[in-house]
Amino acid sequence: MSGSEAIDFTIKVVRSRHVDRAQRYALSPLTRFTSQDNADREAEIAESTLKLIEQWRDRVYVLRSEGWKRPTGKNLIYTLNCPPIGVLTDKKTRPCNQYAVCPFCWSRHYVQETFDALKYAYFSRDAKRPLPLDLVEVTATELLPTDEWNLHGLFQFIQEHRAEFLREFLPNEGAFQLYTIEPSDPRDRSRSPHWKFQQRVLAMIDPLQEDPPTKGEYVGQRRVVRRHHGVTRKKLGMAVGRTCLYPTQMMRGPKAAVVELLERKRAWGGTGFRMSGYYGLLRNKSQRQREA
Ligand SMILES: [Zn+2]
Repeated sequence: MSGSEAIDFTIKVVRSRHVDRAQRYALSPLTRFTSQDNADREAEIAESTLKLIEQWRDRVYVLRSEGWKRPTGKNLIYTLNCPPIGVLTDKKTRPCNQYAVCPFCWSRHYVQETFDALKYAYFSRDAKRPLPLDLVEVTATELLPTDEWNLHGLFQFIQEHRAEFLREFLPNEGAFQLYTIEPSDPRDRSRSPHWKFQQRVLAMIDPLQEDPPTKGEYVGQRRVVRRHHGVTRKKLGMAVGRTCLYPTQMMRGPKAAVVELLERKRAWGGTGFRMSGYYGLLRNKSQRQREA
């Protein structure tokens, strides 16, 4: 299905740094590995990466035909040939930056950036001894019927309430917060169509501080809290991979809903609206890059 604009990648190396593992974990809803053996596993990762590139290309064409205005022209070439994550290939291409939907850019934009920010915050002062702060993962999920909630209402909700949870329930030294919205799985016949709305947080907190509440303030909200004492790079990778799990239905879900989501978000983006943010010790991206 991919047009002539698509180039063939050959995977040269499968990388296994903590950040690569975190990125692969974040995309695991779209891929499946079964092998335990190392050599087999690398072959499996390479194969599934090539498969994901094809799936992504198919998705780009499907979403465009449904009315996704981006990407066009040169950007379409970048989007079809967006460099995969966790591997080295024989081609040098430019990331498409469509991180709301492109699985590879999602991984770079959220997983890699957040992992780098946390690693810098915990380990830049002393490479062996991390900052003595616990790491807390919070994921809250709400399923909102589409006949009651429209995207405008959801974006407005995010804009007006984004700082509340962290301020009231999770005072921190540094935090990353990401909101995601995805359509419901059309195969799930047990519920009427809904938006899956998630708030995902990683926060660095005092070891003596209490966990945030697992009960949400809205009806039906599920909140999962995980806490890590004695942070290591490996634990950081796992926490980031889990928190930044790719919203599967952006690739698999109903195309009309996904396009509506992308187009509306783009319109809101023009007003400075953002779905994610870094706070406190995790904010200092420019300093991190200067010292890298
Ligand atoms: Zn991309």
